Amino acid sequence: MSIYISGIGVSRGIAIGEAYVLVREQLSASQIILPDSEINSEINRFKIALAQANKQLHDIKNKIAKDTPDDILVFIDTHLLMLEDPAFDEGTINNIKEHSCNAEWALQMQGERLVQVFDEMEDPYLRTRKDDVLHVVKRIQSALAGVEENNDNISYKGKIIVTDDLTPADTIMMQHQKVAGFITEFGGPLSHTAILARNLGIPAIVGLHHARHLIHRGETLIIDGFTGAAINRPDEKSLKFYRAIKRSETIKRNLLKTLTGKPAITLDNKQITLHGNIDRPADIKLIKKYDDTGVGLYRTEMLFIKLNQWPDQATHFKTYKRAVKALNGKPLTIRTMDLGADKEIQDTIDQGPMAHNPAMGLRAIRRCLKEPQNFMPQLLAILRASAYGPVRLMIPMLTNLEELDQVLALIEEAKQRLQKKKIAFDKNIPIGAMIEVPAAALAVDAFAKKLDFLSIGTNDLIQYTLALDRIDDEVNYLFDPLHPAVLKLIQMTIQAGKQANIPVSMCGEMASDTQYTRLLLGMGLEYFSVQANALLEVKHIIINSTLKNLQLEVNEILQTYNSSEIRSRVQQLVNLL
Ligand code: PEP
Ligand code: MG
Repeated sequence: MSIYISGIGVSRGIAIGEAYVLVREQLSASQIILPDSEINSEINRFKIALAQANKQLHDIKNKIAKDTPDDILVFIDTHLLMLEDPAFDEGTINNIKEHSCNAEWALQMQGERLVQVFDEMEDPYLRTRKDDVLHVVKRIQSALAGVEENNDNISYKGKIIVTDDLTPADTIMMQHQKVAGFITEFGGPLSHTAILARNLGIPAIVGLHHARHLIHRGETLIIDGFTGAAINRPDEKSLKFYRAIKRSETIKRNLLKTLTGKPAITLDNKQITLHGNIDRPADIKLIKKYDDTGVGLYRTEMLFIKLNQWPDQATHFKTYKRAVKALNGKPLTIRTMDLGADKEIQDTIDQGPMAHNPAMGLRAIRRCLKEPQNFMPQLLAILRASAYGPVRLMIPMLTNLEELDQVLALIEEAKQRLQKKKIAFDKNIPIGAMIEVPAAALAVDAFAKKLDFLSIGTNDLIQYTLALDRIDDEVNYLFDPLHPAVLKLIQMTIQAGKQANIPVSMCGEMASDTQYTRLLLGMGLEYFSVQANALLEVKHIIINSTLKNLQLEVNEILQTYNSSEIRSRVQQLVNLL
């Protein structure tokens, strides 16, 4: 008899295959008190296990394909860094000495201490890093127990792995061994395993409790990564249904690949600009994997976070020049730093207590204008990078025109400094701003007159318009890109751009969601900046749309104030394909 079960679909796609239930030994440590004479040899035993764990991870790194993208390798590097961090090494050795205990117990104590540190973090993404601590502890515990973490003798090819949890290294190895998909009992959509599965394109379901009791090794299993449904021992009818979906998915993926390099032109001949969003110059590789296009949003915060301080001009310049060169003539839109709220560096924390509501506090341009001496190196570096290819400078979080005037004056000062020193830069570098504070959207005409382009940051525009904290799970249910107030602000911004004859893009997540592509086209949006893996899907919708028809339909939608009617009419636009 078939069993239908469901978890959280975190990586889209259908997999059909034989279940491989992975039951791993629970390595729980118990405390053993050692005589003084054995302390040194226990420390040695721990060091040997640490070295073994390190070697295992290096072996995995060497085994996986050479063209594995950097953002995937980083998951293994994170574990290697943790293994080499004194917090693990010295912390555990101190425990052995202080408590005269065995290495397993000392390591478990240290692991719990580190997990608590991550648990107390406010940022939900950073909280998920405690999984990394647990995975690293488990790897060393296995080495101490003499148990192999990854059994390379088992062939996982074409199988669906059902397990409690997977480490990022397991996930990468499984992709290397061509697993069809996986189900884990634990984890959520923000876990590293889920992020990796998405990046690697493996259909996956997480949080399917008791999966290992309900599914047995060798049984046929279907997993639907779109909905989170799994069917164990499916009947012929289900198999036929899912095989058909799988076939159409393959056809769709192959079809999308044929769009690489093609212009995004609508059926009635309107050229739409389609760029990608990046966090680091290395991400340009990922954009190029899908399409040869420019960057509509380069979030520079990662550079600050990596260094944990304001970078100097040379570091800024080196990084931006690398990005410009990698783009080989395609435009690069560099957004000045947007620290504060959910992204922070140590030096702010040192300045005193955290702001009561960081999302509304000294964030982004507010912070830069308070510390112009720290902001100037970034402005100088962006200008200098513009001598090497098309660069646009974008200002985040503007609230009023006074802020804009101050930034423009600082940019002017930076230009004069470079001119005096005869350092090259693009004198006509386009200066633009993100429209993401409702006040700026309501007064957008005035901003448009002073700028060369605008970009709508829907992530913040929605959070501020609907008064909901975008990182607070409790109010996530209010998040609604289709709220009439949000649509009105987007529409006002697009129209202000047309009136001032300057381009308006959208770089928030709404632009990457194909549910909204047609709505936005109908509203007159001509420039989308999206996540790398959404480039071709958004392009597919654009080239299959007729603007004129959409404009008529969308004008009517924008007169509607009933959310469920808006939603169903936007869905009808999607179904037009
Ligand atoms: C936005 O707010 O939509 C945006 C693109 O910026 P960030 O997500 O970096 O705040
Ligand atoms: Mg923003």
